[in-house]
Amino acid sequence: MKTVTNFDRIGEENAFAVLGRAGQLAASGMDVINLGIGQPDFPTPDNIVEAAVRALRDGHHGYTDATGILPLREAVSADLYRRYKTEVSPGNVLIVPGGKVTMFTAILMFGEAGGEILYPDPGFPIYRSMIEYTGATPIAIPIREENGFAFSAEETLKLIGPNTRLIILNSPANPCGGITPRVEIDKLVAGLADYPHVAVLSDEIYDQMLYDGEEHVSLLTYPEIRDRLIVLNGWSKTYAMTGWRLGYSIWPDELYNKARKLAVNAWSCVNAPAQYAALEALTGPQTAVGEMVAEFDTRRKAVVTLLNDIPGVSCITPKGAFYAFPNVSQTGWKAKDLASQLLEKTGVATIGGPDFGTLGEGYIRLSYANSQENISRALLRMKEFLATTKP
Ligand code: PLP
Repeated sequence: MKTVTNFDRIGEENAFAVLGRAGQLAASGMDVINLGIGQPDFPTPDNIVEAAVRALRDGHHGYTDATGILPLREAVSADLYRRYKTEVSPGNVLIVPGGKVTMFTAILMFGEAGGEILYPDPGFPIYRSMIEYTGATPIAIPIREENGFAFSAEETLKLIGPNTRLIILNSPANPCGGITPRVEIDKLVAGLADYPHVAVLSDEIYDQMLYDGEEHVSLLTYPEIRDRLIVLNGWSKTYAMTGWRLGYSIWPDELYNKARKLAVNAWSCVNAPAQYAALEALTGPQTAVGEMVAEFDTRRKAVVTLLNDIPGVSCITPKGAFYAFPNVSQTGWKAKDLASQLLEKTGVATIGGPDFGTLGEGYIRLSYANSQENISRALLRMKEFLATTKP
């Protein structure tokens, strides 16, 4: 059989491979603590689950509009207005099956041989995988520890050339937990005025997971780039709904219909009861979100303290999302070897930094979406492992 060459270039997300291996080890009797996969360990709040059940009982069993049900798109607009005081028409909102689907669509729309797409490194691995799939050239935006894992506007602007089609930004960020400050985003947006041919994809899926009084700066609040801005967001992280496969994107007028057509070709619509659940998530009480973020905050502080207590390991305090990205270069271990041995020998699942890009060497990612007790047990095992085992 001869498949198209694009498929030979497609990558993947190693967090799912680690999830699989962790499952195998657990099934064989090992006490596995999973700090690998990036998903809240809380159940979806009851009112949201009930809304889905009610939707099924009320007979919402068929296709919906490919763009999503209108009340949900209106609720997304109202939610964005409530949080960012910015107007987004429901006619620019597309409901999609998961946050990933927005990056898939946007990268397919702008990527082709001869084009260049800028993406964060370390960053969510699917950005690069999809860029390579399209044949476009991936250009890494370095995300550096010395910048608090924020992207630098100056460095990013310097990477733009005549063939740049799309810039992918992510704040708060996976895997480093960095937040890019407003001043840097202001600078970037001002600089983009010189490059009107470049579109922007802003991945804001962690926009409600910030700590220490940090505020999220949504790219939606910059009117000067709204005509070329795509925003990725969704319910997976904020409402603990990763398994529901729900997300939304905001598209400028010029691109919306193209994205809608891809929806019609690929997934028709998001499953109807999930859309009613999403509506309840946005319009119902928001207390569960605050409680979850407060709990992540407590764990974040614990993780950082425990990591910095391990000889050879240093970890700056992440300001957003639910990941710590400790520097393990002084342990003598290659990051991926360390992650793999931690899982095989101690049952602690983490992800090696290089799985998020070449600049991830020297780091591992820990998701602190796990109980405080498990986090303490996991980091004790890591400490003992590093004290007793040399690479
Ligand atoms: N964007 C980032 C930065 C993520 O970390 C993730 C999931 O881990 C996604 C998008 C995808 O989210 P979803 O599970 O809704 O597809």
